Amino acid sequence: MKSEKTSASRMVEAGRSHAINPGPVNPPIVRASTFLFDTLADFQKAGSRPFDGAFYGRVGTPTTFAFEDAICEIEGGHRSIATASGLAAISATLLACLEKGDHLLMVDTVYDPARRFANRTLKRMGVDTTFYDPALGDDIASLIRPETKLIYLESPGTGTFEVQDIAAIVRAAKKAGVRTAIDATWATPLLLRPLEHGIDISIHAATKYIVGHSDAMLGVVTANAETYDDVRRATQDMGASAGIEECNLGLRGLRTLELRLRRHEASALELARWLEKRPDIAKVYHPALPGAAGHEFWSRDFDGASGVFSVELHKRHPDALRSFVDALDMFRIGFSWGGFESLVLPAHPETRTLPLWNDRGPIIRLQIGLEDVDDLRADLERALDGLQGLAE
Ligand SMILES: *Cc1c(COP(=O)(O)O)cnc(C)c1O
Repeated sequence: MKSEKTSASRMVEAGRSHAINPGPVNPPIVRASTFLFDTLADFQKAGSRPFDGAFYGRVGTPTTFAFEDAICEIEGGHRSIATASGLAAISATLLACLEKGDHLLMVDTVYDPARRFANRTLKRMGVDTTFYDPALGDDIASLIRPETKLIYLESPGTGTFEVQDIAAIVRAAKKAGVRTAIDATWATPLLLRPLEHGIDISIHAATKYIVGHSDAMLGVVTANAETYDDVRRATQDMGASAGIEECNLGLRGLRTLELRLRRHEASALELARWLEKRPDIAKVYHPALPGAAGHEFWSRDFDGASGVFSVELHKRHPDALRSFVDALDMFRIGFSWGGFESLVLPAHPETRTLPLWNDRGPIIRLQIGLEDVDDLRADLERALDGLQGLAE
């Protein structure tokens, strides 16, 4: 039944079995630390399977379970687990899969706080990390050691938007008995369902497009049956449970995700193509543009594009970055993306391990919001025209 429906329909229906029937459309918001039991036997029964129902607030309430079930229905995993943030979902996944003496293969285009978790916390635990080129496919096999326990992907990375060859990496990982996890935040569960491609663990910063309104922090990790228990234990050990209001906002966001994402996609593509033709832009980094790194994998695996991409200015003038960013009016400067509003942020690929990114012009990430695309284009045009005033 489920698989016959389109993703758009599933976004609307998923998790709704938790609603009171007959009653309101949405599952109720259940805020609780404590759940009460009539008999000691009932209490002990609930405690013997603490992840399978309302037991204690940190494990979740029916609101948490509604959000988790919704994501799991869409992603097609064994179960999903909501976390306090996207980073908590990442950290829990890494802790679930790695212990002292293990080796981690992490993509070099990884979200920077995840890199820091590897370089600080995992290192302190005695886990060794190798950062690998996002262009690696089958050749990743040459980096796998006997003690390699996890290959961590992020596709596309959200600085310069390289798309990875998931199929090749999963093939190499399975052959070596190594687990795989992916941060698929850019795509959302609408555009990429990693477990269908053989990935073990899929991670989303729901803070971004799923919540969609820049007003909550929320993460979610979906695991297959082989990895679920480990991931669930790690999220509980960290104690970084998702807030109840946040889970409700995640559910609310899912209902309009398809609609919003199609608009983000269309506006971003239109602007990316327009920017590509501007003489003041050295390069546009958008996975849906032919010639983008890993474009063929995007075409093969993804059901579309979201609304975040980067542009590179020419290296001409030291003030170009500041001049361009400060001249923008509708694009405000801020971390994050995935909300309704347009944002701009300098990207810093020079912090990567692999020496591919030295000697470039400034790279600037744009999140294309839901504003009118002609207004956004005019804003970009004005800011780019302003660069002409800078002395060469
Ligand atoms: C924002 C982000 C995260 C972290 O999510 P938070 O909810 O901010 O902790 C992880 N991965 C990617 C790709 C992100 O953009």
